[in-house]
Amino acid sequence: MSPAVKNGILLVVLLGVVITAGYFFTKGSPDETLPDDDASATTWICVNDSHIEKLTAKGVEEWMKTKMERSGRRMMVFMCPECNEYSIVRAQWCEEDDKFIPKTDLEGNSLLCPSHEAAMQGGG
Ligand SMILES: [Zn+2]
Ligand SMILES: [Zn+2]
Repeated sequence: MSPAVKNGILLVVLLGVVITAGYFFTKGSPDETLPDDDASATTWICVNDSHIEKLTAKGVEEWMKTKMERSGRRMMVFMCPECNEYSIVRAQWCEEDDKFIPKTDLEGNSLLCPSHEAAMQGGG
């Protein structure tokens, strides 16, 4: 392969990359599309049966649209697909128990992990 041909191929490849990049750059629509990826995901948990739902930002919006939401005083509560009650709240990860636990109760009050709370009250 002659250097001229090599350069020609390189040029075509580069041009292709630039056009593709430009296409995606301009295509990035101004209308706000919520992210639907893992980075935007939040974990939700049912306070009744510990059913776990991992929702992306878009997923949360969809749940809100499908009326699975009840506006609490300070928070959103979703309907649990398992027990059909408004009992799904944000979850937090407890490293010591190695599981998700509710971050708040249904009224939006912050919750501690039951086992840790017990330890704090019982300990001295
Ligand atoms: Zn449930
Ligand atoms: Zn815990």
